[in-house]
Amino acid sequence: MIRTLCLSLVLSLAGAAAAQTPSAVPVQHASHAASQDAQSAAEVWNNLMAGNRRFVAGKPEARDLVSLRHKLASGQSPKAIILSCSDSRVGPELVFDQSLGDIFVVRTAGNVADKVALGSIEYAVEHLHSPLLVVLGHQKCGAVNAACSGEKMPSENLDAIVEKINPAVTRAKSYAKADDLVESAIKENVHQSALDLSANSEIIGSAVKSGKLTVIEAEYELDAGQVIRLDVPTKGQN
Ligand SMILES: [Zn+2]
Repeated sequence: MIRTLCLSLVLSLAGAAAAQTPSAVPVQHASHAASQDAQSAAEVWNNLMAGNRRFVAGKPEARDLVSLRHKLASGQSPKAIILSCSDSRVGPELVFDQSLGDIFVVRTAGNVADKVALGSIEYAVEHLHSPLLVVLGHQKCGAVNAACSGEKMPSENLDAIVEKINPAVTRAKSYAKADDLVESAIKENVHQSALDLSANSEIIGSAVKSGKLTVIEAEYELDAGQVIRLDVPTKGQN
């Protein structure tokens, strides 16, 4: 089973790599109100936000993790994909009060969508068919702060993170005051990652275009614990 999945993933990724032509596929948010998939994505988002309200209130759902673990041993069907920062204060399972098997989480410093992150998300889109992808930034993000500082990074690996964030910093600098720069860049960086997902992945771009996948941009507030949606919802969506 695992072997089959791995093989099909490899084949699928090989096909995607051959077909991939990085193009500026526009990010489409929850604007496919008419389609079944967008409807279920909206339901998933509502479910995640209900979980976030439980988290904020300190009243997480009681769960029988042992029986859930046994049940999930035969396979997974996560309802959402989350691309979030690796920051230890931003664990998506906790923040959205979700459990084993609920969300497929990809984490990188600064929630950047590099090739490995894209490949991981492509797997969830192609093989697990999750209808919703949330790009989750957060207040006081150290990676965005480092990019805003303009300082030289001590390694090429750290530099690779900052390079992905730099376009967001440039955009934020065009309107934000110094006090506001990091916070504005954090929001811009969530948007940048959402754009990168579709622009740099044929699989993700096609899924968004066809309405099979909805991308939502959001920011986590460290102190309050709330997740705030950043992109403007279409009428009828949350
Ligand atoms: Zn961060």
